[in-house]
Amino acid sequence: MNQILWSFQRLRQLLKECIAERDLVTGKSLHALYIKSIVPPSTYLSNHFILLYSKCGRLSAARLAFDATPAPNVFSFNAIISAYAKDSQPHVARGLFDQIPQPDLVSYNTLISAYADRGDAAPAVGLFTGMREMGLDMDGFTFSAVITAASHDIALISQLHCLAVAGGFDSFVSVNNTLITYYSKNGDLDAAKRTFYGFDEIRDEVSWNCMIVAYGQHQEGSKALALYQEMVRRELGVDMFTLASVLTGFTCLEDLSGGHQFHAYLVKTGFHQNAHVASGLIDMYAKCQAGMLECKKIFQEIPEPDLVLWNTMISGYSQNEEFSEEAFDCFRQMQRAGHRPDDGSFVCVISACSNSSSPSQGKQIHSLVLKSDIPANQIAVNNALIAMYSKCGNLRDARRLFDRMPEHNAVSLNSMIAGYAQHGRGAESLVLFELMVETDITPNSITFLAVLSACGHTGKVEEGHKYFNMMKEKFSIVPEAEHYSCMIDLLGRAGKLKEAERLIKTMPYSPGSISWAALLSACRRHGNIELAIKAANECLQLDPTNAAPYVILANMYASAKKWEEVATVRKLMRDMGVRKKPGCSWIEVKKRIHVFVAEDSSHPLIKEIYDFLEEISMKIKIAGYVPDLSWALVQDDGTKAGEMELRLGHHSEKLAVAFGLISTKDGEPLLVMKNLRICGDCHNAIKFISAITKREITVRDAHRFHCFKDGQCSCGDYW
Ligand code: ZN
Ligand code: ZN
Repeated sequence: MNQILWSFQRLRQLLKECIAERDLVTGKSLHALYIKSIVPPSTYLSNHFILLYSKCGRLSAARLAFDATPAPNVFSFNAIISAYAKDSQPHVARGLFDQIPQPDLVSYNTLISAYADRGDAAPAVGLFTGMREMGLDMDGFTFSAVITAASHDIALISQLHCLAVAGGFDSFVSVNNTLITYYSKNGDLDAAKRTFYGFDEIRDEVSWNCMIVAYGQHQEGSKALALYQEMVRRELGVDMFTLASVLTGFTCLEDLSGGHQFHAYLVKTGFHQNAHVASGLIDMYAKCQAGMLECKKIFQEIPEPDLVLWNTMISGYSQNEEFSEEAFDCFRQMQRAGHRPDDGSFVCVISACSNSSSPSQGKQIHSLVLKSDIPANQIAVNNALIAMYSKCGNLRDARRLFDRMPEHNAVSLNSMIAGYAQHGRGAESLVLFELMVETDITPNSITFLAVLSACGHTGKVEEGHKYFNMMKEKFSIVPEAEHYSCMIDLLGRAGKLKEAERLIKTMPYSPGSISWAALLSACRRHGNIELAIKAANECLQLDPTNAAPYVILANMYASAKKWEEVATVRKLMRDMGVRKKPGCSWIEVKKRIHVFVAEDSSHPLIKEIYDFLEEISMKIKIAGYVPDLSWALVQDDGTKAGEMELRLGHHSEKLAVAFGLISTKDGEPLLVMKNLRICGDCHNAIKFISAITKREITVRDAHRFHCFKDGQCSCGDYW
């Protein structure tokens, strides 16, 4: 080896080039030569090897180089701290930081950023406070990092903003950009705007991008697009981040034709093949319900999709119930392509499990989470798991997970409160809500939806009024149309039809079909045909193709033996071409999902199922069950009572329950899902079945869970 060639200077020069190019292969051979060469051990060179390995994501090699450094100085420490920071190991970084005799600005900034990346506010703010107390120098990066760490704490962010202004750090554009981002993420668009428009000269392209994103986050799509046009007019540099954020503008306007045009522009400029932009496109098409086919086409054009793009694709599939299976496929393909799923991937695929209501798939994904390197306290993943368990009827595991979480946020509480509400366990919902009010987690409008529905499912009218007022008075949350629908539902179920009608008339929104539908089903329950006609008319004006109002009216007339009116409604349905949405029920047995429609004939075990149903219906009749033929009338015009009873006995939910009973062990609980509301006769029959077979049978219908046990249902027949 030519000793002159490998002189110190030459080595230094080559090494610097490797770092700039992130050329790990050459860098490694230089390292080998350096160790073997006569160049004396140099802290300076060691530091650069640490830097090289850190930049190339080789943590253990970086650590070896650090440990071999003859006299580590602050530069060596900073390089290795940055390597641990990148590997999301702020605690190790902290240990090293504490060994530095005199940490400098870079040491502080690196460590604060490490905490910020993990959303760990307390230690980051601790370091920041330490710097201030010791009067150490700070720069824009220090502020950007500590604001990022404060991420969810808007009060802290405003405090930091004041300090930045006082210290003149608001002249750093990066500080302002971070402020815009985090004000917006915390729902304070005004503060974001003040920051953006406040200092005209302290803005760069990134600031514009941040502000466009902020408008998109607050559903102000037209302002986002206007800002983009202003950017173009001023001939500012537009990059992939700008273009992706413009797409969020179209997304929140649900402006598909504008989106299409912009897509065409992206194709012309070649930007559509950029992973970041493609991700925005897929998100737009998925959220605007343009069909996943378009998304798939865009995705397939990207040569090497990155993790974000895979996640967008999984998220697109998981937003759509029909595509749950595709969401899993996509998740598996992503892993095969060599990507480690991150918290975002897990959140999406877990929500696909909630949609498909496949408890075994949910459990499987949960075990993957446990095996992954996602920290056990990752709040978004835990929240998704809670929602998944509760939607799959497993409230016990949902609660266990909830109790095990070291900290909660509003989403965790909302999921748990809604879970209890859906299962008819209103009291537990409200206990949790009262606990929430005592903590410093502020309830939001979604919390109140869950709380009101908890009151509705359990007939707590007074409490409902109390919470409806509380949300306005104590928390200054303006009730939305959904909250009014909940109240109408609550009043209607409790038989306060007049009050419900009055609320519909006085609510500050035009009542949607959901509010009228709530009143209509209350009328059915309480046999008020006059008001039912009115409510049905209102429903049909808003949504003429919806079969439900016709069906309810026909059933009500039938119960009152008004056969002429029944015929009129049926004729109307035929004339309008309205068809009842076919009901189907499904159940998972041995990791396979079995779907049933009424009078099913396709299932391989259908003969056994019908035989079993015949047998059990004799038993429950002896126990006191009387078939309620009013639930069979609409479809069975002109048929004889015996036939009607038979058809009633073959409703999809009864078939699914029967199949569950004959294909599982004695005592095993069953979970059946139905796409529509459970019918009244099936509800009654399953109560008897649960008593006779000594089984816990849970039915999740389109509205809630019914947990049947010992002849009772958890809804207390209040549904
Ligand atoms: Zn039924
Ligand atoms: Zn029930």
